[in-house]
Amino acid sequence: MATITIQQVNKMKMIYGPVPSRRLGRSLGVNPIPFKTCNYSCVYCQLGRTTHMTNLRKDFFPPEELLNEIKMVIEAESSHRAIDFVTFVGEGEPTLCKSLGWLIRKTKEIADIPIAVDTNGSLLYREDVRNELSQADVVMPSLDAGTAETFRKIDRPHRGLDFKAVVDGLERFRRDYNGEIWVEVMLIKGLNDTEKELKALKSRLEKIEPNRTYINVPIRPPAEPWAVPPDKETIRLAHAILSDANIVDITEEETGEFSIDGFTNPEDAILAIIRRHPMRAEQVIETLKKFEVEEGDVHNSIKRLEESGEIKKLKYRENVFWLTTAEKRGHE
Ligand code: SF4
Repeated sequence: MATITIQQVNKMKMIYGPVPSRRLGRSLGVNPIPFKTCNYSCVYCQLGRTTHMTNLRKDFFPPEELLNEIKMVIEAESSHRAIDFVTFVGEGEPTLCKSLGWLIRKTKEIADIPIAVDTNGSLLYREDVRNELSQADVVMPSLDAGTAETFRKIDRPHRGLDFKAVVDGLERFRRDYNGEIWVEVMLIKGLNDTEKELKALKSRLEKIEPNRTYINVPIRPPAEPWAVPPDKETIRLAHAILSDANIVDITEEETGEFSIDGFTNPEDAILAIIRRHPMRAEQVIETLKKFEVEEGDVHNSIKRLEESGEIKKLKYRENVFWLTTAEKRGHE
């Protein structure tokens, strides 16, 4: 068996973690899709606007290579730390990967670890996608709108996607699937936060009957700077209207804690973390300090990364965030 270090694992393009996840515990992320390849271009996407809009399923990376990476990580991890979930999640939409079903099945053969799929849910109108996802233990689709008009405004879907087909697909999947469905609703000020919109959303959720519904608001820089959370009173209204929909959460918890497990080089750690997850400026400093380096060295590290074009600063609402640059990621 080839041995790899956790640090090597974190450098892999298609696999990351395991990372602590509030919902899934220690989650090993598998990304079968190139950066910003999606059939939506959500106004709130924290990866920016979709640069490769497609509704065509295909293999973007060799599936055997992906499986091999999954296998190596599971074997490297199993000796000392548990993985609670293997989560298929993309830097785009994971169900666009044609071999997703094969990957889920093969991953289950490698290890008895629950599988989750974090998806926008748009392709569940397709029988092949429903069959493939039915092998997962948890499917986490998003649903941001109760009407076609709001769907178009928030998710800006591929022109081949029809709102009715998308929600019918979700309902159909619920009827056939025995696993857990955890729906995520992203609330955006002025788009889906009126009483009328929330009631329309509620009636869709009642038909889908998810096991859990999470309500989120954009807390990190979104694709469109104007996509901001509703005010607190409106969030309370959403809670009241959707309350029968088994709401578990109201906003994403921001712990501010990032693990540097397996990293010896502070700059590698920062790049690996913010590649998936923009970090507030103070979170970058706190994370770098975990390496017990001098305060001056912390600032020098940030400056070096910025000057090399690896990271850039962006103000969103009250916070300053560091993000990886699209230019750099586009070359991967
Ligand atoms: S579906 Fe996900 S990856 Fe695609 S644009 Fe929306 S938030 Fe981004």
